[in-house]
Amino acid sequence: MADSAKQVPLVPGTFRRSEDGGGSCLVGSYCATCEQVIFPKMVLCPMCHVETVEREIGRTAKLFSFTIAHVAPIGFEAPYFQAYVDLPEGPRVFTLISADTPVEPDSLCEEMDLELVVEPVRVEADGTEVTTYKYRPLIGG
Ligand SMILES: [Zn+2]
Repeated sequence: MADSAKQVPLVPGTFRRSEDGGGSCLVGSYCATCEQVIFPKMVLCPMCHVETVEREIGRTAKLFSFTIAHVAPIGFEAPYFQAYVDLPEGPRVFTLISADTPVEPDSLCEEMDLELVVEPVRVEADGTEVTTYKYRPLIGG
């Protein structure tokens, strides 16, 4: 089987492979009037009600806070990290932490540097991988 598994995003339009080949990124919006970056992407700025432009953001982030969830929704495995991260572009984003990060309080600390990864969260009956963005500690960061 040379074909890689088919992948679909959990929430379409929130992330993609960046157009400059620099890996994965989140897809946000930029408002030239108030200079705010918005995530997830919105056609109109919620403050100014003017049209925004799409912007690739969030390749890295700083950990703002985190907790360990011990109960998972159907199709997910507990325990797992939930976190808020601050993007260098401005938005504070809710995220999960990559599956290769041990789910122990010592694995993370506030203010640590993170990088964006895209991971499968579940596999459908036909083999399609449902993927989402997560963050993981930046090695050497
Ligand atoms: Zn605005």
